[in-house]
Amino acid sequence: MTKYVYTFGGKTAEGNASMKNELGGKGANLAEMCLLKLPVPAGLTITTECCTAYYQNNCQLPAGLMDEVHAGMRNMEQLMGMKYGDPDNPLLVSCRSGARKSMPGMMDTVLNIGLCSKTIPGLINKTHNERFVYDSYRRLIMMYADVVMEKAEGIEPADGKGIRKQLDDMLDAYKEAKGYESDTKLTTEDLMDLAERFKVRIKEVLGTEFPDDAEAQLEGGIKAVFKSWDGKKAVSYRRIEGIPDDWGTAVNVQAMVFGNMGDTSATGVAFTRDPATGDNKFYGEWLINAQGEDVVAGIRTPNPLNNDTKNEQNKDLKSMEELMPETYKELFEIRNILENHYKDMLDVEFTIQEGKLYMLQCRVGKRTGRAAVKMALDMHHDNWIDEKEAVLRVPADKIIELILPILDSNIEKQHKALAKGLPAGPGGSVGRIALTSEKAMEYKAAHVANILVREETNPEDVEGMRAANGILTARGGMTSHAALVARGWGKSCIVGCGEVHIDLDKKEVKIGAKSFKEGDIISLNGTAGAVYDVEMPLIIPEIEKDPLYQEFMGYVDKYRKMGVRTNADNPKDAANAVRFGAEGIGLFRIEHMFYGEDGQEPLKILRNMILTDTTEDREAALAELEPYMKESAKGTLKVMNGKPLTFRLMDPPLHEFVPKANEKEKIAALAKERGMSEDELVSRINALHEVNPMMGLRGVRLGIVYPEITETQFRALFTATAELMTEGFDPRLEIMVPLTINVKELEHQKAIADRVKKEVEAKFGVEISYLYGTMIEIPRATLVADKIAQLAQFFSFGTNDLTQMTFGFSRDDVNKIVKEYTKEGIIPADPFNTLDQEGVGQLVRLGVERGRSQRANLKCGVCGEHGGDPESVRFFYKTGMTYVSCSPFRVPVARLAAAQAAIEEDK
Ligand code: ADP
Ligand code: MG
Ligand code: MG
Repeated sequence: MTKYVYTFGGKTAEGNASMKNELGGKGANLAEMCLLKLPVPAGLTITTECCTAYYQNNCQLPAGLMDEVHAGMRNMEQLMGMKYGDPDNPLLVSCRSGARKSMPGMMDTVLNIGLCSKTIPGLINKTHNERFVYDSYRRLIMMYADVVMEKAEGIEPADGKGIRKQLDDMLDAYKEAKGYESDTKLTTEDLMDLAERFKVRIKEVLGTEFPDDAEAQLEGGIKAVFKSWDGKKAVSYRRIEGIPDDWGTAVNVQAMVFGNMGDTSATGVAFTRDPATGDNKFYGEWLINAQGEDVVAGIRTPNPLNNDTKNEQNKDLKSMEELMPETYKELFEIRNILENHYKDMLDVEFTIQEGKLYMLQCRVGKRTGRAAVKMALDMHHDNWIDEKEAVLRVPADKIIELILPILDSNIEKQHKALAKGLPAGPGGSVGRIALTSEKAMEYKAAHVANILVREETNPEDVEGMRAANGILTARGGMTSHAALVARGWGKSCIVGCGEVHIDLDKKEVKIGAKSFKEGDIISLNGTAGAVYDVEMPLIIPEIEKDPLYQEFMGYVDKYRKMGVRTNADNPKDAANAVRFGAEGIGLFRIEHMFYGEDGQEPLKILRNMILTDTTEDREAALAELEPYMKESAKGTLKVMNGKPLTFRLMDPPLHEFVPKANEKEKIAALAKERGMSEDELVSRINALHEVNPMMGLRGVRLGIVYPEITETQFRALFTATAELMTEGFDPRLEIMVPLTINVKELEHQKAIADRVKKEVEAKFGVEISYLYGTMIEIPRATLVADKIAQLAQFFSFGTNDLTQMTFGFSRDDVNKIVKEYTKEGIIPADPFNTLDQEGVGQLVRLGVERGRSQRANLKCGVCGEHGGDPESVRFFYKTGMTYVSCSPFRVPVARLAAAQAAIEEDK
């Protein structure tokens, strides 16, 4: 028969910390703490496997489970010297959820189970503390009604009508009527009275009686915890965190200890080190005469655990160190034992019952990026963990927190977010609301920090986005224009924030429940996607002077095997990326020279080129454009001196550079500028119209239809290279052709390159060497990669387009669908964010394999947005990629993810 129940207690346990899959995190660590001989109230853990069986069995407990539970209860009773359901000496228990991975607050726990009319007198007799017994009783009724009788029964009350809320309201009204400010003021009579009123209300609202029987309560509690695995909150949390539905939760039935027995009793939570800074300081909060949930629920302001934990709000409250020095010392020793054993920072829950300390939970604690690095290095210096383990300790995404300006987390946690959106660009920003790009630029010119708030953004907003300190949009997904640009600039940005409603006429915006005027101040946490209505302090990190960052990244590069490059299109971004450790540029997009203020002049010429209808006029315009292109490439090649720069030939469809036919003002201005009639201009623009421009005249197709466009680019690039060589620099040019479907396209373009290169070489008297390669971003290209590699010296996988074309998802329109698909669990994640390894990943693998079957030393890189996503980077490492390339601020993330992939492989 399957063993479903594992006992713990009395300084021994059937399970241990390695059994998280079976016992859940909480159960496994409770067992481990017993093995460490720490004071843990005895209990039993019902396995996650039992949860799975329960669901397979139509929500029935497996046969024989309750017998096993009863056997475990006997063990508990013996250890605790009490008896469950006994009228004279009753044992009470808690029923606690606990999944393999911690899902804080997502599932349910019921305390004080076993209190009923049969056991109440016995407990009063034993404790001589009638108030405590009725306080525990009213808590049981509140939790049990909520968790077991409402949620587990699948009852979905209207907003604010849940039973818990109704009972809480009754409690508040009662306190108000009596003039009490705190729960602790309630007398025994009050609590008895409340309990009876609660029971009446429960019967009215839910139609069933609160069970006055210990055995029924126990079984109800166990089932309810299993049920909470399928609760709404838990399900959506699993979607976000990617936790599989079939893992199930364990149930821990544990003897109660009481923090609410008077002034020598208390409860608290603590971190073995400061989770915000990583400082080696014991950090925690506690409450006298309270039960566990009171601390986190914020019912009372908790007291600081010690001096190190005092802050503005709690500095006048007494610490445990002051009030219970003996017990504090004991807790401090346990903290050391635990850290020494786990070699990591833990968070712990504890309760003190009449002066005696009990440990109720421990787990590896959540921490900020900086704290993660600090603790990993400290523990390495103390010889607790080796370099490799230190590198593995920091989640790759979190390293970015060390390089971006961030909101002061101490202040942030004191405020509630107004609204939440997609965390598109990390870091923090604070400033005045600007509702248009013009306003953002106006603020910038006046040196006023500002946040651009828009319905959505398009390339025209680029200047405004540049000028803004942060960006907030109502629409758009993680690969939307705003998101991409913001990430590239390391600008904090939140997109797709549905709770933003803009009224441009009134110059007002509603964010969540609050209305703002243009010019009001807000703060963004782009790393979390949270918007605040408070002016928060920003902390700007200086990595060159940051010994933590420097030492840590040193270890990262020691173990990293895959290269990391950046996507950059101008000298400033390139220089920044090099600062962050980029070893080259994997994607330089020539079209970015037409954006922004400096791009106005070349953009004008480009439009002449686009809007003309004769080849001669086009060539004339191109000749005019060439020096601009040369300068653009030269500037960045110079910064990258000695490091490779991959230049992508012009990619976007041409209509992106002219106004839309319905943009009346812009059409009028452009017609005037060009000295043509508006009608004529509109008809030219209409001629460029395509139904599916992303699958139309763009990429190499442009270069084949208009070879003169390609020729100009080659000439500009080779000239920039030749000039730099003459000036004593070491330009490492790589040119790649976008959107290739076969080798013939590459041959066509290469013929032009060969001719132009000879001409430039003759002119400058130098010999130019460069690499000629291609993007792989159409599924067909991956299938014929061997043939393409006959000519291409390198591949760069454009995983954005490859994802778009493989899924048939338009990346500019698909946000709504992806949201629904991920919610329904049809796809596990947004494929534009994290590479779809199952599908698109196969094509990537195939492309690398087939390419290298033709050319064994073929360089393969990735230049899509996925190049900065840790999970995707791990995958790319396994496919044998030479490098990944990502936006400058993600370079350290990619370095860390690549190092972790290499270390994990060796394990
Ligand atoms: P969560 O996973 O949401 O933290 P827990 O199962 O840890 O839920 O329980 C909620 C609170 O109740 C915690 O503060 C915990 O310490 C407290 N608690 C749980 N079981 C007991 C018990 N047997 N005795 C005293 N307090 C308990
Ligand atoms: Mg807990
Ligand atoms: Mg592309």
